[in-house]
Amino acid sequence: MFRPPHFLPALCLAALVAGCATGERPRLVPGATIPPATAPQAADPDASTTTTSTPADEPTLVSAIPEVPVSGTARALVTPTGVVVEVLEDRGGGFEIRTPCGNEAELTWGTPLYGAHVLIDPGHGGDVETGAVGLEGTVESELNLEVARALAAELRSRGFTVVLSRQGEYRVPIITRAQLADALDVDAVISLHHNAPNTSPSEKPGTEIYVQEDRPQSRRLGGLIYAEVVTALGRYEASWVAAADAGVLSVVNTEGEDAYGIVRRPVGLSVLVEFGYLSNLTEEAVFNEPTYAGDMAVAVADGVERWFLTDDGGAGFVDVPRVFNPGGGTGGTGGCEDPELE
Ligand SMILES: [Zn+2]
Repeated sequence: MFRPPHFLPALCLAALVAGCATGERPRLVPGATIPPATAPQAADPDASTTTTSTPADEPTLVSAIPEVPVSGTARALVTPTGVVVEVLEDRGGGFEIRTPCGNEAELTWGTPLYGAHVLIDPGHGGDVETGAVGLEGTVESELNLEVARALAAELRSRGFTVVLSRQGEYRVPIITRAQLADALDVDAVISLHHNAPNTSPSEKPGTEIYVQEDRPQSRRLGGLIYAEVVTALGRYEASWVAAADAGVLSVVNTEGEDAYGIVRRPVGLSVLVEFGYLSNLTEEAVFNEPTYAGDMAVAVADGVERWFLTDDGGAGFVDVPRVFNPGGGTGGTGGCEDPELE
C-alpha cells in the first residue's frame, strides 16, 4: 500500500507521468581527476531500512564548479514580466520562445540565459495547481517558491548559476519544466515540495527525496541533500511524521519507470525534495518560521556544493523502490493559461 504524497494526488502527481529518461550523462570537470573511492562520510543515525553506500559505477563530479556559458546563443529568457521561458530560436533581434503552457510565441526582448548549473523547480504554481494546503492555510506552491528563491540566492552567492522554473504563481506543466532543464543543459534539476497527508509519528523529520532509479549521481545528490536537510530540520521543534520508507528513494510505476515526471523527463539528472509534511500542524508552523526558507536554502546548497566538489556519499538511502502509479491531474498542459510575458 503506497500513500500518495499529497492531499490531492490526482491534482498533484498527474503531471508526472509520460516521457522517457535517456542515458546517463556524466559531467566531469575538464582537467579534473577522479579521486579514489572513499568510504561514505555521513551516516543516517538510526535507520534500519537505510544504507550509506556510495554509488561506485559512475564518475563523480569533483574539484571545481564547472563553467557554464555566459554568452552566445540564448537558451532561455527571462521575459520583461519575470517569466522564464525556453528559447526555441535566437534570431539576434528577437526570440522564438516556448511559453509555460507549451505554446510558441515571439518576444522582442528579455534577459537571455545561456546555461545553468541547477534548475530549481518550485513545485506546482498558480490558483489551479496549489499543491497541498496546510490546516492553517499555508499553500504549498507559495511555500515552495519562497524556499526556491532563498535557495537561488544562496547558490548564486556560492558561485553557481541557477535558474528557477517559475518565478511567480502561474502554471508551468511538468513537460515545460523538463524542456527548460534540457535547453539550459543543467547539471541537475532540484524540485522542491512539501508533503501530505499525515503519516505515522516519527522521532525525526519525514523528509523524502525521490531520485532517478538508474542514476547513481541522482542518488548521491539526493543523499547529500537529505543529510543536510534532516540535520537542519532537526533544529526545529515539531511532532514529526514520516512514512515507513522515508529517506532517499526511487519511486517507480508498475512498469519500472520513475513515477514522477520531473524526475523521469529531464535528459539530465534530477531529484525531488519533499522537505516535510504541510498536512501536519506542527510542521506547518515550522515552515512558517521566518528562518525556515533561509535554513533550508543553506542546507540544500550545502548538499549541492558537496555533490559538485567532493565525492561524499550522502545518507538516508532506502534500498527498496516504492511502487506508485500517479493518476491524472493538473501537472499536464490541459486547461493551462499562460501568464503575461511582456
Ligand atoms: Zn508537491
